[in-house]
Amino acid sequence: MSKEQGGKGAGEQGSRGTEVRGSRGAVRPIVVVPIGQVDESILTVIGQGLREAFGWAYVIAAALPHPDYAYDRRRGQYLVDDILAQLSRLDLDAERWLGMADLDLYTPGLNFVFGQARMGGPAAVIALPRLRQSFYGLPEDEALFHQRAVKEAVHELGHTYGLGHCRNPHCVMCFSNSLPDVDRKERNFCLSCRRRSP
Ligand SMILES: [Zn+2]
Ligand SMILES: [Zn+2]
Repeated sequence: MSKEQGGKGAGEQGSRGTEVRGSRGAVRPIVVVPIGQVDESILTVIGQGLREAFGWAYVIAAALPHPDYAYDRRRGQYLVDDILAQLSRLDLDAERWLGMADLDLYTPGLNFVFGQARMGGPAAVIALPRLRQSFYGLPEDEALFHQRAVKEAVHELGHTYGLGHCRNPHCVMCFSNSLPDVDRKERNFCLSCRRRSP
């Protein structure tokens, strides 16, 4: 009987940035996939945040087209399930991939979602607009926006590794129903989730 090993981040961080693309034997990267128009700066922030959290290198992919197919005219929002389904169909040579949409996403039964993931992988998606102070009529705070986005990205990718929601309000895997929830948690896994993360 063979025992599955490997794929456990620490000690496998030899490759950095985008250099791993195509190199044989290297750890496969996490790919950040812009969906429609997304600012370059936030893509990099997310890539670096994911590298810190998971230990994988990251690659930023070319943007997918604007997801008109997911638009609900009545709600003025985009159906996250359709976007995640399309992302999941991508066949990338990657550890995981994270779609990023600067669009308001929803799923039936909820007014909006910050993100969604396919439990067990390979894809997840996050929505940026509601992570900005300006969405609520407040002065913009870019550092806060970046922190929130990294937390949501790590959270959704945590789901792709099979992690469920954590009761520790400071753990990145804690469920966020609102921005105060997002702001209360940290961008790291609690010890218990860390043990089960890749
Ligand atoms: Zn979650
Ligand atoms: Zn936890």
